[in-house]
Amino acid sequence: MPECHFRAARIVDARTLVAVTSKLPELLENNLRWAKKMEAGRPGFFSSLLQQQAPQYLWIGCADSRVPANELVDLAPGELFVHRNVANVVVHSDLNCLSVIQFATDVLQVRHIIVVGHSQCGGVVAALEDRRVGLADNWIRHVQDVRNRHSAWLETLPAGERVNALCELNVIEQALNVCQTTVVQEAWQRGQEIAVHGWVYRLHNGLLKDLTMTVSRLDDAGAAYERALAALHARYAEAARAA
Ligand SMILES: [Zn+2]
Repeated sequence: MPECHFRAARIVDARTLVAVTSKLPELLENNLRWAKKMEAGRPGFFSSLLQQQAPQYLWIGCADSRVPANELVDLAPGELFVHRNVANVVVHSDLNCLSVIQFATDVLQVRHIIVVGHSQCGGVVAALEDRRVGLADNWIRHVQDVRNRHSAWLETLPAGERVNALCELNVIEQALNVCQTTVVQEAWQRGQEIAVHGWVYRLHNGLLKDLTMTVSRLDDAGAAYERALAALHARYAEAARAA
């Protein structure tokens, strides 16, 4: 009976919930230790942050727990403005992401917006392989648009390389989307110094790679996009020759 199965699932969920919440005091204790360590290392650190945050960078990354923004670039609280979602997607109608970009650009006046993807991204795997995961399918559809746009090239690659290749293509496309927002375009038009970048994080070695999708002027976006794509194609071709 489906209804009985549903009730059984709810009971298991309740037990699991108890097990999970019983670990929460551990997080609060961790926080206490961390705050003490920070204040001991830099006396007055937290009171200095009360005045005004002045980060130079906006990080748009994946929500994946293995890709914690501040830690990867060794920046302290107050130094990195962060937006994360599944598969680091920048959609022209996503008011959440657009609001972050607008606040970072107009109010905080960050100098750099960095779109950061990562290897073996679960959202990208789902997009590549048409895996159904639920509501998130509708979000991942944007990564499938990237896949479809580059399907001719992706199909030339060995199957084992397509996920990471699509992770990198997705970064380049989303960085282009940032360049095409009205917020960033208007900032460039009024002469504000702000650059858009595309990076990928490699889970296996903890290193970030610049995908050379770097744009600091409206007119440069198209050429930077083509250069980054050409560099990516060349890198995969080189890897295939070396294999
Ligand atoms: Zn991811």
